[in-house]
Amino acid sequence: MKPVCPRCQSLAVYEMTDGTHDRLIDELLSPTAMIGLGISLCKTFKIHPVFGVITGTAIATLIEMAQSKNALPLLINKQYRCDECTHVFTAFN
Ligand SMILES: [Zn+2]
Repeated sequence: MKPVCPRCQSLAVYEMTDGTHDRLIDELLSPTAMIGLGISLCKTFKIHPVFGVITGTAIATLIEMAQSKNALPLLINKQYRCDECTHVFTAFN
């Protein structure tokens, strides 16, 4: 279902996607980044790096679980921008 601009009823609307932003967050919260963070924390606190790997994996799993829960509302709640009057609105699919 294609949304219509609520202001001018134009069909010339396009979806606003911020892919680069999402990818950056994904990269920052990737399991590799989390494990790396865990290992560096272990080095700081002089703990065996294996605990860092375990903690990092656990945090990465938790983040992935949280992201999959949040993925649905993000897909439903899409932002659109009207090409005719540049009005930005949210549409529910
Ligand atoms: Zn419009």
